[in-house]
Amino acid sequence: MKVLVLGAGVVGVTAAYYLARAGHDVTVLERREGPGLEASYANGGQLLGATIHPWLAPDIPGLVLRNIARADAPYRVRFSPDPTRWLWGACFLRNCTAARVARITVDLRRLAVYSMAALENLRATEPFDFDHSRRGVLRLYRSEEKFTRAAAAALSGEDAARRPDQLDMPACATLEPALETARRHFAGGLHYHQEQTGDAYKFTAALAAAAARLGVSFRFGCTVERLLHSGGEVSGVQTSQGEENAEAVLLALGCHSARLLRPLGLRVPIYPVKGYAQTLPANSTGAPKLALQDVERKLGITPFGGRLRIAGTAELDGFNKRADPRRAAAMLDTLMKLFPDCGDPGSAELWTGLRPMTPDCAPILGATPFDKLYLDTGHGSLGWTLACGSGQVIADIISGRPPAVDLRGLTIDRFL
Ligand SMILES: Cc1cc2nc3c(=O)[nH]c(=O)nc-3n(C[C@H](O)[C@H](O)[C@H](O)COP(=O)(O)OP(=O)(O)OC[C@H]3O[C@@H](n4cnc5c(N)ncnc54)[C@H](O)[C@@H]3O)c2cc1C
Repeated sequence: MKVLVLGAGVVGVTAAYYLARAGHDVTVLERREGPGLEASYANGGQLLGATIHPWLAPDIPGLVLRNIARADAPYRVRFSPDPTRWLWGACFLRNCTAARVARITVDLRRLAVYSMAALENLRATEPFDFDHSRRGVLRLYRSEEKFTRAAAAALSGEDAARRPDQLDMPACATLEPALETARRHFAGGLHYHQEQTGDAYKFTAALAAAAARLGVSFRFGCTVERLLHSGGEVSGVQTSQGEENAEAVLLALGCHSARLLRPLGLRVPIYPVKGYAQTLPANSTGAPKLALQDVERKLGITPFGGRLRIAGTAELDGFNKRADPRRAAAMLDTLMKLFPDCGDPGSAELWTGLRPMTPDCAPILGATPFDKLYLDTGHGSLGWTLACGSGQVIADIISGRPPAVDLRGLTIDRFL
């Protein structure tokens, strides 16, 4: 079947790979000059099978409102007359009840566990380098109370294989010696040894090359302008380079997905949520070798080979990718306070990316009310983790096979 994949971020490229493996004739249309240059470029790099959770939590509304004007707040909303921003924000806050968070977490975890298994299989077939590490992720808590509560919840989990090791700070520093200088900042940590990390951009670029070897054709510098449809069926797309027809169209345009769907009467609430990352060459002694999360500050610190990256924070500021220098400085300051010898802060490369977020923090996968139009989008803060599972699911659906994972809570139906 001739399939068009729109968008060459980690999500589109992964789907294109699985579609080619399933025997389809795949063309990827991407407006940038190569794969993985938008949200997938310099993300936190953490692959979170066991610890995946939506950003939603009952204490988030209070946290957002208390910190709304602070430049370095983990969550920040910039004032704007744009009603979409406020509507999206209101839906997000409405999803913060304990019952909704619990339900959404179950849906996400099902896909994340499937995705990690898919990544494992993919690595066996395509053994390319993407600074992959299996050392796990250590979640660090600044407040004693939050640490105790998180440990009690994690250790009572049903799945014993996914329970973390609960570590006091001396034990954390034994596991990760670079934490010796940071001990006084934290009450303790939970080490999830089965979690993994890797450079999403390197992965996307290498997988695009593998997909090309399977026959996938990539058209870069090609902007998709609109979906061509009639009688409830999509037949192709109008692009900056002309019309392109296909038997199936997969939309994986990240933050730009909603705009293309609107003329079809499909309103999907995907909003760009800006995040920051700073990457510096790592000192071999003072930089952590283990991936960390500073839970209260919503920051991830991830080593990639000889580099160290700090990433996180959320800002509602439309499609504006400009970095607020105060936020960037506060983030780097946190890193240097924790690990004064990790590297030269002057050499840090600053990057911002727009997460394609739905207000329930779950992606939108599968068929749409339009024949031949499929979605693989809205992965928000979790697209690197969920890319392989989502790509495999989409390849199954387009090939007419039932997906091997239950898609409850992950399809467009919840927004129609
Ligand atoms: C700071 C930060 C930290 C993160 N950390 C993590 C993490 O640790 N773990 C994790 O799992 N996830 C993380 N994420 C989330 C993850 O990076 C995203 O969910 C993921 O990159 C989304 O991939 P995508 O392919 O959907 O979108 P994108 O990578 O944005 O790809 C969409 C593509 O579509 C193209 N496009 C858009 N419009 C058009 C058009 N009209 N025509 C043609 N092409 C078009 C774009 O150029 C782009 O290449 C993080 C994100 C950020 C910003």
